[in-house]
Order: sequence, then C-alpha cells, then structure tokens
Amino acid sequence: MVQNSKSSRMTRRGFTAALALTAGSAKLMAQDANTGSHGEPQEVPPFRETPAFTRKETPIKVQPFPMTAVRLSPGPFHDAQEWNRGVLHRLPVDRLVHNFRVNAGLSSSADPLGGWEKPDCELRGHFTGHFLSACGLMYASTGDQAIKAKGDAIVSDLAKCQARLAGGYLSAFPLEFFDRLNARKQVWAPFYTIHKIMAGMLDMYRHCGNRQALEVLQGMANWTGKWSAPISADHMQDILNTEYGGMNEVLYNLAAVTGEDQYARTGDRFTKNRFFNPLALRRDELRGLHVNTHIPQVIGAARRYELSSDVRFHDVADYFWYEVTSARSYVTGGTSNNEAWLMEPRRMAAELKRHVNTAECCCAYNMLKLTRRLYGWTADPRYFDYYERTLLNHRLGAIHPETGATIYYLSLAPGAWKTFNTDYDSFWCCTGTGVEEFSKLNDSIYFHDSEGLYVNLFIPSELEWSEKGIKIRQETRFPDEQSTTIAVNAREPLRMAMHLRVPQWLTSGGSVKVNGKTIEAFPSPGSYLTIYRMWSDGDRVEMQLPMQLHTEAMPDDPSMQAILYGPLVLAGNLGAQGLTEPTIVGPMGPDLKDHPMDVPGLRASGKNLDAWIKPAAGEALTFRTTGQMPDLTLTPFNRIFGQRYSIYWNVS
Ligand SMILES: [Zn+2]
Repeated sequence: MVQNSKSSRMTRRGFTAALALTAGSAKLMAQDANTGSHGEPQEVPPFRETPAFTRKETPIKVQPFPMTAVRLSPGPFHDAQEWNRGVLHRLPVDRLVHNFRVNAGLSSSADPLGGWEKPDCELRGHFTGHFLSACGLMYASTGDQAIKAKGDAIVSDLAKCQARLAGGYLSAFPLEFFDRLNARKQVWAPFYTIHKIMAGMLDMYRHCGNRQALEVLQGMANWTGKWSAPISADHMQDILNTEYGGMNEVLYNLAAVTGEDQYARTGDRFTKNRFFNPLALRRDELRGLHVNTHIPQVIGAARRYELSSDVRFHDVADYFWYEVTSARSYVTGGTSNNEAWLMEPRRMAAELKRHVNTAECCCAYNMLKLTRRLYGWTADPRYFDYYERTLLNHRLGAIHPETGATIYYLSLAPGAWKTFNTDYDSFWCCTGTGVEEFSKLNDSIYFHDSEGLYVNLFIPSELEWSEKGIKIRQETRFPDEQSTTIAVNAREPLRMAMHLRVPQWLTSGGSVKVNGKTIEAFPSPGSYLTIYRMWSDGDRVEMQLPMQLHTEAMPDDPSMQAILYGPLVLAGNLGAQGLTEPTIVGPMGPDLKDHPMDVPGLRASGKNLDAWIKPAAGEALTFRTTGQMPDLTLTPFNRIFGQRYSIYWNVS
C-alpha cells in the first residue's frame, strides 16, 4: 500500500527515469533471457492509484484577455452571438428550474421542457447548467443585464432547492441515481449532469460575480467529496466507465478560484487511468471510445497540469490533442462518427463510410476549449490553425440564422443537410454546448504576455488593454474581404510587440503594412509576424490575407478530396430535393435512408483547380465548376442552410 501510494505520485519525468532504469535492467534481463532465465520487463503504467494533488502552478506563456475587454463588432460572429442571445432571452426561468423544484419537493406550476429535459429523462437538469454558463459568458461578452438577471434568478432558485435537499446535493433527479451508479446498475450519466450544473455555477461566479453561485458550487463539491470518499480506488475506476463530463476539470477550477486543495483532491478521484495511461505513453488506443465522454476529461488533465506541474497530465493532453487533430479529424476540424472513434487512426475515409452521423458538435466545442488552453502553454500558432478551421467550418455554420437553433451531428456524408434542435423539445448535449459556444465568440481572438499582443483570429472586434492604456480595433469583413486592419488607439506612445498570426493556409501573397509602409520580411505560414515598435495613437497595421483554392485528401484514400478556399471548406450545393421543415428541424442528423441521393464525382485533377473551378459572378466566396456532369456551385460550408451538400468528392 505504501509503495503503491509512493509510485502513484511519480511524475512523468520520474516515470521516464524509471523506464530508463528498467531499460538498463532490461539489457541485463535480455542477457539473462539468452540464458533462458528471465522474460521481458513489465512496463510501469503512469497512472495506477488515485494521484495525490500537490499545488505547484506551472507558468503559462500567454493569457487570453478577460472577455469583458473584447467586444465583437458587426459581422458573421456578431450575428451568431445575437441569434444565440435571442435564445437566452426567450427561454423562461420557471421552465428551466421546474425539474429541480419538483425533485426538491418545492411547488412548480411551470410547463416542463421536452427532449432531454423531460421530467422522466435521466439527464434532466443538464441544460440548465449549460444555460447558467451561457448567461455568465454572454454577460461577460455583451454586458447584457437582463441575461445576468436571468442567471442570478436561476442560481437563487437552485440554492433553495439545494438547501431543501440537504448535504450540498443539487440535482433535478433523486439521489437514487447515484445509488444505481455505485451499484453499477443501469443509469444514464449522473455525474455528467452534475458537472454541467457545477460548471454553470462557476461561470455565474466568475463572470457575474455571483457569490451565492460559488457557495452552491462549494456545497456540490463537498457533497461529491463525501460521496466518493468511502469508495475504493478500484471501484471508483469502474464507476468512471459511466460518462462523467468534466468533473475533474470543474473541481480543479474550483480549487484554483478558492485556493482550497481539497477540491483538487476530489477532482483527482475522477482520473480514469485506463484512458489516460496510453495517452501518457503517446499511444492511440482511442478506437471504440465514445468521443465526448473523453474530451472533457482531457481538458481536466490540462488544468491538473497547470495547477500541479505534474507532467503526466501534460503528456495526456498534449498527445491527445495532437492525435485527435492530426489523425482523427475531418477537413472541418470535426471529429467522431456516430459519437465514437470507430476505426484506427488516419482511416478517415473508411470512418466516414461507416456512418452518416459524423462530427458531433459538442466534441468540436470541447476540442476548441482544449485547444485554447494548450495554446497558452507554448503560444504555438499551429493551435490556432486548427482553432480557426474548426471555428469557421464547424461552429460558425452550426447555428441557424435568426432562430439561433444549433446542430447535433454536422454530417459530412454526401447528400447530407444540416438539422437543428426545436425550441422546447430537444435540449441535447450539443444544444447545451451550443448556447455556451455562441456566448463566447470573443474569447480567443487576442492573447497577451507581459510584452505584447497576439492577434490570432481575423474577426472584427475591439480590445481594451487597460493595463497598457491601449485600445485595438480590428476592422475587417474577413473572409469576404481577404485582409484585416488593426487600428491602434493609445493614450501615450507605447513600446510593445504585436504578433500577427500568419495562417498555415496563407501560401502566397501575404504582406503587412504599418502606416502604409510595407514590411519587407514576411514569415512562412504557420508562424507569427512580430512588429516590435513604439506604437502611437492612430497607427494602422494592414495585413493582406489572399486565399487560394486547394484540396485536402483523406489520409487513407487520396482520390477522396475536399475543396477549400483559404481556411474555408467549400460545400457543393446539391439543392433542396426532398427537404421539408420536419426533415430539418427536430432530427439529430439527416436521414439519408429515407432521403437517399446519388452524389456525382468530379472528373478533374485536384492539382490544377483554377482550371475548372471559377469564381461565380456577383457572389463573394462562391464558385462554379466547369466541364462537370452536372456542374455545381461551391459555397462556404458555413453558409449553407436548407440545402443538401457534399464536402468530399471522388476526384479522378
Ligand atoms: Zn453532443
């Protein structure tokens, strides 16, 4: 027992050293093996017992600005934010708290919500947690007092429910669900739901300063600590086979905001060794796993590394991100197939053929959360190549113009179409992450270190960096316009570095002018152009971002290609054949069995695209093929709604 707990505290470096020792002994053993007396050395898994948290924060290289410091200006991101803001305004508080009140024995005459918030759904309450996060984030993004008031009202009501339930427990379902979880009997995902409510409380505290939300959260964390304390490490590992969202992450975050390590120690009980071990050893054993069960656990690992400097957790997050983005993602940045990873890595063509329901939206949401955290460790601009691609192609086009409804599966199957949630009868996981996502579109455009500013995304917006007495206004109609302008408003001249991301897709023609004068050197794609100078009020930086047509082939089938223009994935518009309101609003994904479609291949070279893909007259970013049977219109995937499409083509 003592030996085990010592080794469970072993860091990744310690583990490597142990491996080196074992390797040394291995030689000896190999010699012995030659004489036939010993076998191969046993590998020591990095995670065995529950890890033991000790606080030792790791320095973060670059930080995002507070969300209150960045405001979106008019443009497609601002539109998406406003459609989502409408959703937040429309959903009534009494319906969102109804199941909680009933569970706590308090009166409620509200009309219950439907879908995954139905009074008999085992996930009930999860969306209310997401909604609280969305209120906090939207208030930070826009200063909308009515949204804050709505979040405050929910917190106040849920606090009453918590007091009534006693012991810190707060949920819209009874404790009996946790008895079933503990007995390993059938139950959906109680801790997954609890995580959403805890994260919502944390967001209401962080972004709206709601102290009551922090108290409710601490009560829930204390309850979780008490519930899990008597459970043996082995049995807890079994319990962790049931989806639990980011319980580890929210408990680490609570430890960070309160300075109380007990919460991190409770968070450590949510370390799923079986999942983390291969990742820490840089092995892809993801096949067969449910995707969105696991991404939040990795965000928790990243947070654990930041608070403790335990490099085992660093390696889990670092390798997972690399593997998912390079070997398990489609051209849109989306990952998952029928919610899982069904194939071995880099078998994406085979993966796509397995199922229509690709790329679950909450997976993309969580991958973006993970990406911006990992970016903070290194300031490596390649993280933002992935971030931009996923944001533009998977997320931005996943909110319905005007209604603000969002998508569950963003299908990439040929002939698919986008499907959206209903107003009151869906409340899927992705509806929850959807209301969060479109409340925080301003959170990753700019980062900073003590020396300077990092401009990572080309989104019209204003940044106020009060410590430096400087305001930045990014003026652009990107991607309709292939450039951006940064206007500086400085109280006094300021010496500062400005790092402009030179995206990976910017293969030729990029340039930067400061106050009309061209900077001679322009770095290679996938890096930063750094301008270090004394900035004065009225300075203007103009960056040209010319786009080119290019293709991206599936790693396991070179003839299966997607067409892109700069960072934008282009979709072939196949028309609205067979589509009606019920096929678009309500289903979690397109039903291609009931509405099949033959999608043409393209008979052309994927190399010389300009020869057969021509800009369409009068419409920005829209193209028309020539010489195909039939010819097609190609349009950015994020702008296609109510039409069937194809993303991957068989290019001969
Ligand atoms: Zn989902």
